[in-house]
Amino acid sequence: MKPINALILISIGQAVFVSILLALYGAFVNPISLGYILLFGFGTAFVFFVTSYLFFKSFIENRIKSIYRIIHYSGKPNSRLRDDAVMEAKKATIKWASERQTEIEALKEDAKFRREFIGNLAHELKTPVFNIQGYLLTLLEGGLEDEKVNRKFLERAALSTEKMAEMIEDLDQIIQLEANSIHLKKESFDLVKLVDDTIALLEDKAQERAIDIHRQKMDGPMLVFADKNKIGQVLTNLISNAINYSNEKSKVEIQFYNLGNSVITEVIDHGIGISEQDRPRIFERFYRVDQSRNSAAGGTGLGLSICKHILEAHDETITVKSKLKSGSTFSFSLSKLEQ
Ligand code: ADP
Repeated sequence: MKPINALILISIGQAVFVSILLALYGAFVNPISLGYILLFGFGTAFVFFVTSYLFFKSFIENRIKSIYRIIHYSGKPNSRLRDDAVMEAKKATIKWASERQTEIEALKEDAKFRREFIGNLAHELKTPVFNIQGYLLTLLEGGLEDEKVNRKFLERAALSTEKMAEMIEDLDQIIQLEANSIHLKKESFDLVKLVDDTIALLEDKAQERAIDIHRQKMDGPMLVFADKNKIGQVLTNLISNAINYSNEKSKVEIQFYNLGNSVITEVIDHGIGISEQDRPRIFERFYRVDQSRNSAAGGTGLGLSICKHILEAHDETITVKSKLKSGSTFSFSLSKLEQ
């Protein structure tokens, strides 16, 4: 009930009550006499104003104001008698509580995310740090004078340092991509040429495993509009994964498909494949399918996560199709340059 209605009811009730009492005591014999009507009218008005001031202003309004202060209500609370201030305060409080609940859930999720992130980071850094520590201690404890091991151990320590540096660089990039603080430098470029440049960079790595990289023959250039360096990084990650997770002497293919205003690039390998339950998780940072199996490949577990972030920053997508022991196909879309 609105305060104004409550006040009118209280006032009339009080006036009727007082008038009846007076009538009973015989002060006014005729209940429709002028005196009776005046008494009724003045009684009602008096009770109305006293109750409205004392009851509404000092009791309800002040308390409602303090509720609004607690919930930091940004709007102006209603304090007119005609408004149902109590009901509005209740609604504002319920809304405030539900917003806080959502915030708490998001903070809990963030905290869980951070805990996992720090846990993964510590786990990933442990191996190279312990390796370096081991090699250096062995060298200090006499290995340095031993011609057979000194160079080998230093080279291994250098390799572990390189791996740590690579991981820190990847992490730095992921953090910037997640904070949306990377500014894309979009330009028009030939995707086919970028694929060829990337293949050339990875040629040695492919040769080590006798893997043949084959790019689909094209009639001309394929112009796209994107951040060339970042897309180069996506291609490097996908093609080097295809090499790493392929069987020796197999083939890696790169194909293009036109799809309206987009071009789909596919990196296809015939390697170990990814099981159905691992497929949705491989884009998570640090996720590796079967750690022991992949440790030889020596990745950071961040490559696909970086690819996904880069493509999402372009409003594009990356997907994977794969069959265990048969191979995988990673596809990503890019906007073609309007010609
Ligand atoms: P990594 O540095 O370990 O390669 P990525 O983020 O690039 O990290 O990939 C995550 C995991 O996904 C890899 O550890 C591997 O288990 C799996 N994976 C990625 N690409 C392929 C592929 N082409 N074939 C099979 N498994 C793959």
